[in-house]
Amino acid sequence: MLAPLDPPVQTAAGEVPVAPLVLIDVTTSDGIVGHAYLFCYTPSVLPALTSLVEELGAAVVGTSAAPATVEADLRGRLRLLRPQGLPTMAISGIDMACWDAVARRAELPLVRLLGGEARPIRAYGSLRSMAPDAVRAEAAHLAGLGFTAYKVKVGAGDLSRDREVLRALRDAVGPVADLSIDYNQTLPVPEAIRRIRALSEENLLWVEEPTRADDAAGHARIRAAVSTPIQLGESWWGVDEMTASITAGAGDHAMLDVARIGGVTGWLRAAPVAYAAGLPVSSHLWPEVSAALLAVTPGAFLLEYLDVASGVLRDPVCVVDGAMMPSERPGSGVEWHDAAVERYRC
Ligand SMILES: [Mg+2]
Repeated sequence: MLAPLDPPVQTAAGEVPVAPLVLIDVTTSDGIVGHAYLFCYTPSVLPALTSLVEELGAAVVGTSAAPATVEADLRGRLRLLRPQGLPTMAISGIDMACWDAVARRAELPLVRLLGGEARPIRAYGSLRSMAPDAVRAEAAHLAGLGFTAYKVKVGAGDLSRDREVLRALRDAVGPVADLSIDYNQTLPVPEAIRRIRALSEENLLWVEEPTRADDAAGHARIRAAVSTPIQLGESWWGVDEMTASITAGAGDHAMLDVARIGGVTGWLRAAPVAYAAGLPVSSHLWPEVSAALLAVTPGAFLLEYLDVASGVLRDPVCVVDGAMMPSERPGSGVEWHDAAVERYRC
């Protein structure tokens, strides 16, 4: 389906004007239905991802709904391909829906099923806008939700444009808030070093994906040359890529994307790896499930508040005083708004 994104998400690597979503329902033999959604950035990928979810889902019909069993089965079927990219996203979505079903059957919120408890998770306002005036207006709105940390995407122009965007954000949120920037992989390594050094007086919390996400050596060179911490992780397809990045010394933080790292099951494997390496863990998108996961993650740092699915959810994420509570209802907190689902179905 194509759900509305208002305002659209702008990045130096292109704009996302609508939310292409795949909604997943896993129905157990005793009638429990687990939900999850996948966001695939561009509508042109939607048919392929939908088909993958349907085909992989059909392959495990009649088997166990235990997430680890399903995950092992699906990975086994894709071993010869090496399940990165869309197959990993499809497996992650099915995994999240299975965990939701297991939590509903146990009549427990996901956070309690995982051994944690609902507590406020500090979040940061992740801006969708990049133009200075729009940044100012959006940041003022986010400040009203009580955030004390913000991230803005930069890199659409030159260094002076980056400064202009940061100044607009700082003007809107005041002198105390923590600020981060995201280049969305768009800078060559030498240019990344030049810009991050030039922005060092901004005392940024982190700089995210300054160069190509698959260039771990390049990120390690940048990290060695600048004083601002480097944030990586939203593009890791699974724990193996995360481990390779950490081994290369590519970043200072880990940003886990539950739909790329392998679902809830993958996150639970990734979090101890980050902890052992001393990397604080933040989340990328998927605030409902990520809030529960950060609540049980050692070294949990910040939750990203950037909600792409609120248009089809019955209870969109709620931020209070700059923090988000994991859902306290049975399941992961994902519940469809049936009328909206019908409206945006494609
Ligand atoms: Mg990013």
